Order: sequence, then structure tokens, then C-alpha cells
Amino acid sequence: MKKIQIITLFPEMFEGVLNSSMMWKAQKEKVVDFRIINLREFGLGPRKQVDDTPYGGGDGMLLMPEPLFSAIKHAQENDSKAKVVLLTPKGERWVQPKAKSWANNGDNYIFVCGRYEGYDERILTLVDKQISIGDYVLTGGELAAMTVIDSIVRLLPGVLGGENSAEIESFSDGKTLEYPQYTRPEVFEGLNVPKVLLSGNHAEIAKWRQKNSKKAK
Ligand code: SAM
Repeated sequence: MKKIQIITLFPEMFEGVLNSSMMWKAQKEKVVDFRIINLREFGLGPRKQVDDTPYGGGDGMLLMPEPLFSAIKHAQENDSKAKVVLLTPKGERWVQPKAKSWANNGDNYIFVCGRYEGYDERILTLVDKQISIGDYVLTGGELAAMTVIDSIVRLLPGVLGGENSAEIESFSDGKTLEYPQYTRPEVFEGLNVPKVLLSGNHAEIAKWRQKNSKKAK
């Protein structure tokens, strides 16, 4: 079973996503185990402070090192070999081949969600991987963590229904987009399903699908 721990200031953001659809199914079938760690619980002083102003000046606040170190160490007490992943726009770009590799490598993960203007750089000493989900800036790492986790969990053995459904979808080879797909009815508002798909000729269908798959930009 893959164990995924998530360190966040906003645990409630994960409730709907982790308890719906494939993520819910994967937990029910004991393919994955999620644990949410509330960073606030590791905050300092009676107000459980987690952020402070940056040295050298500048707008906004940074996550302080002490709460982050304590939360990561706490997660490591549960799972000493888990890889620590920091979500950050400065990280390596997340792509489908990585999702496939992380789903199959047997590693467990601790995801750390940044907030505010970011985090004290010294936490990088505890981080194994820095991951970005794209060249834009989100308010926090939670949506990025959900994106990465969803893309991994749906590829864990036994989660998707069809044996090959993940093999033939977009980006499965890192560069091809899936062919167009149709379902009933055969004609909808004057728009027809391509005839070859109704023909039952599997070789022709495969040829059509290959021709209509595109190269990703
Ligand atoms: N000041 C930071 C910068 O310019 O790089 C951006 C901080 S952002 C407002 C707050 C947090 O959201 C980041 O620390 C990170 O955890 C998360 N985040 C924002 N954009 C992200 C992205 N594209 N990929 C992954 N995480 C992201």
C-alpha cells in the first residue's frame, strides 16, 4: 500500500478531493493510505505562529523553519523512508511519465504545501524533490499537491477499471494526445460518429485512432 502524508495549513481543502471518485476507491481497496498533518499544530507559542517576515525586507510572510521541520520530522516518525516532496513553482515540472514512475516505484511520500510568499529556504535540507505543476503561481501548494497525488493514485495497480486505460491515454508516452472518442447516440444534433468506429473492424479502428492521435505541443 502506498502511504501519502500531506503537510498543510488547510487540511479541509483535501476532504472532498481525497474522499471522492478514484481517490476514495483507492483508499477503500487499501491501495493507498492518506494522512493529513496540520502544520498549525506545530506552530510556535500560544498563537501557534507559523509565519514571519523575510530577512532583507520585502512583501508578505514566509513559513518559518521550526514548524516545517517539526511537521516533517513528525511525518518521518510514521514513515522514515518516505520521500519528502516540496510543492514549489521553482521545482521540476510535473509530467505524466513522472506520475507513472512514482506510482510504480514502491516509494511513500510526504508532500509539503507552501503558503504565503513561500518558505524559509533552510527546509530544503529535508526535501528530496521539489515539484512544480506549471509556470504559474498558486496561492498555496494544496492544489498542486492534489494534482500530483491524483495523477499518481489513479495509476496505482487496481485503481482504474480497464487494464490498459492508462497505457493508451494522453501523455502516456510523454508526447502523444489521445484520439477523439464518442459514445451513444450515433447522431446528435446532426453530428455523426465517424463510420469506422461503428464498423466493428478492429484493425481499421486502430488505424483511425493512430491517425487521429496528436503530438502534444
Ligand atoms: N513567492 C513564491 C515565488 O515567487 O516563487 C510563490 C509563493 S506561492 C504564493 C505560495 C506557495 O504555493 C508556494 O510556496 C508553493 O508551495 C505553492 N505553489 C504556487 N505555485 C505553484 C506551482 N506552480 N507548483 C507547485 N506549487 C506551487
